[in-house]
Amino acid sequence: MSERAAPFYCPYCGEEDLRPSEAGHGAWECADCNRAFRLSFLGLLASGIARAAAPVPREGDGGGADGS
Ligand SMILES: [Zn+2]
Repeated sequence: MSERAAPFYCPYCGEEDLRPSEAGHGAWECADCNRAFRLSFLGLLASGIARAAAPVPREGDGGGADGS
């Protein structure tokens, strides 16, 4: 059984020249920046998928012009 997820880009240099490392399961090596890293699944989020399209403005405490 092979890896379930493969990174498409190196998280350090952004290159795509990645190959599985011999360091163990989930370990990858970047041929461009010579870095080795490991990907691991931490678990599911308890709060589910967060929607980035719904920002909550928290700047200032009622200091705006429209105070209800
Ligand atoms: Zn890299």
